[in-house]
Amino acid sequence: APFSKQGHVFQNIGDGTYVHSGALAIRAAIAAGTTMTFKILFNDAVAMTGGQGLDGELSVPQLARQMSADGAARVVGVAEDPSKYPKGADFPSAVAIHHRDELDAVQRDLQKVSGVSVLIYDQTCSAELRRRRRRGTAPDPPRRVVINEMVCEGCGDCGVQSNCVAIVPVESEFGRKRAIDQTACNKDYSCLKGFCPSFVTVSGGTLRGRDGDDARALPPLPDMSGLPAPRMPDLSRPYSMVITGVGGTGVITVGVLVGMAAHMEGKGVGVIDMSGLAQKGGAVAVHLRVGEHPDDIKSVRASAAGADLILGCDLVVAASDSVLGLVKEGMTTVIANDHEIMTGDFTRQRDLTMPMDEMRAALSQSAGADAASFIDAHATAAALLGDTMSANIFLLGYAWQRGAVPVSADALHAAIRLNAVAVERNLDAFSWGRFAAHDAGAMDNILNSSASQPARSTRPETLEEAIERRQRFLTEYQNAAYGERYRARVEAIRKLELECVPSSSALAGAAARGLFKLMASKDEYEVARLYTDGAFQRQLEAMFTGNPRIEFHLAPPFFSRPDPISGRPKKRRFGPWMMRVFAMLARMKGVRGTLLDPFRYSADRKLERRLLADYEASLDEIAAHLTPDNHAIAVQLAALPDEISGFGPVKGEAAELAAQQRKDLLGALKAPPSKRRHAA
Ligand code: SF4
Repeated sequence: APFSKQGHVFQNIGDGTYVHSGALAIRAAIAAGTTMTFKILFNDAVAMTGGQGLDGELSVPQLARQMSADGAARVVGVAEDPSKYPKGADFPSAVAIHHRDELDAVQRDLQKVSGVSVLIYDQTCSAELRRRRRRGTAPDPPRRVVINEMVCEGCGDCGVQSNCVAIVPVESEFGRKRAIDQTACNKDYSCLKGFCPSFVTVSGGTLRGRDGDDARALPPLPDMSGLPAPRMPDLSRPYSMVITGVGGTGVITVGVLVGMAAHMEGKGVGVIDMSGLAQKGGAVAVHLRVGEHPDDIKSVRASAAGADLILGCDLVVAASDSVLGLVKEGMTTVIANDHEIMTGDFTRQRDLTMPMDEMRAALSQSAGADAASFIDAHATAAALLGDTMSANIFLLGYAWQRGAVPVSADALHAAIRLNAVAVERNLDAFSWGRFAAHDAGAMDNILNSSASQPARSTRPETLEEAIERRQRFLTEYQNAAYGERYRARVEAIRKLELECVPSSSALAGAAARGLFKLMASKDEYEVARLYTDGAFQRQLEAMFTGNPRIEFHLAPPFFSRPDPISGRPKKRRFGPWMMRVFAMLARMKGVRGTLLDPFRYSADRKLERRLLADYEASLDEIAAHLTPDNHAIAVQLAALPDEISGFGPVKGEAAELAAQQRKDLLGALKAPPSKRRHAA
């Protein structure tokens, strides 16, 4: 374009926008001779306003024909499932359809096209697809993805490859791992592209807690008849609620239910949805005002310091400046879900954490400690209802029982029925929320007795306990001598630190963690052991009933060709028989690293041996040069393995970055104090 020095740009537009006005912009760009690519996201629904269908009928072939007829220099289709467009489908002859895995290559190609090109990306909106599946109007593939938590390295590659917000962090004694939030999963299986052997797909079993055929009985709902009704909010002036959360998690549904309940009771109600992007891409705030009569509602949006209730479906948005500005001490009640819900940024920032304590404190300080209540609605809903889908309705029930929602329980029940989605589950969730607010002690007892797995201890592990646990693990990994080698190395560093910096154990802690990580590298034998030692079977049994059939997604050495698009070894699907191979490999761990080891000379195993040797050399350097003055540098050096995670190319890239840091830190460690700052 004449006003830009940039040779080419991409412009996204949704199919809804295309239909109501975007087509004109494309025509104008063609007429102006602009060089750019319009990416038309054919997601089959007007996602930002609730998933309505497009006005009129428009298919992908029709869209391609329109664009070709309008004079686009090139039109290309990219589809999640190109097979739905067989040869002879009604596309213009020059239009090629590619699989979405080829998106990057297609885009690079379009960058070189002079004039306006059009890329039609054909994939149903994820949030809408899940909605349709829940309503039974779209087929629900029977295959689910599960991550073997022990095999997972927490490298985050699955998030990078798939951009999927259903991949959630799991904190374990072995560090941060990943799991699939089965409620949020849209089953597009793109996470399988994460380069690691942690993924299995499960078909033929039923997820526990769903579909009513659960062998593990969920706790029965207690008798609610004795529950006292709360004192309802005074409606002599309109009551202002603000419901907050992140996009695509059902926040707007809560507003719809309260609004409908108020309407059914003949009350006045106004609702404004301020919605961010779905798929955890943005903040959502529903402003809702309820009055005794419709005439009482003159405005809807809560003014500064004007909210009576903040119902926080997550803390990130509830504790944001814009929401805190609506809180007034002495007037506002805050009820919030304090489960750590990751935002969409987690797909790109593997170590992202949320400042949970600070966010709780900000809300408590603004509203006053007595006016702010927090409950982990996600974990509680998962334990009581089998999944997290109804967590927000649980929170609504909790707030209602606290007397913070100005409509009757009967009206809310009726609104839930009218909504006609997961009615029984949502009614139960509402009742459980009420029960939790009424009797927290009884609720704790129910949760403790229904836990399918022992709760992880919340007491921080001591250094001695961590060393002991890791030594035991390495004994299983290889043998007792291997475990003892680990302990001896760590004890030497521990002793040294005690002599040099008696007030700190940071170096010993970092060395205990780092050495363990490199000694317990997940080679073929170890991955096999972690699939066959019983823990993964227990994980599956806790998740599924019936006879689940599992398949593995692996890129085994010697058998994997490079993927033509990514250049990485291509992963392939293996049936349940792989378990027998794993069992055999696990028994062969004794040959690890010996001349009989067929994997010994693979690039990955060589890298792992080098990383361990380098690390032990770093520990030697620390032992030779440690002073109180360079202690902090030594800790950084010992903690470097924290940065090296993943498998194959992912690990290779991380190791390269860490090697440069190691060089710099070793230089700083050995530098005289006067030069240390510069060297570090
Ligand atoms: S190892 Fe990396 S890619 Fe694999 S599941 Fe864990 S975080 Fe995802």
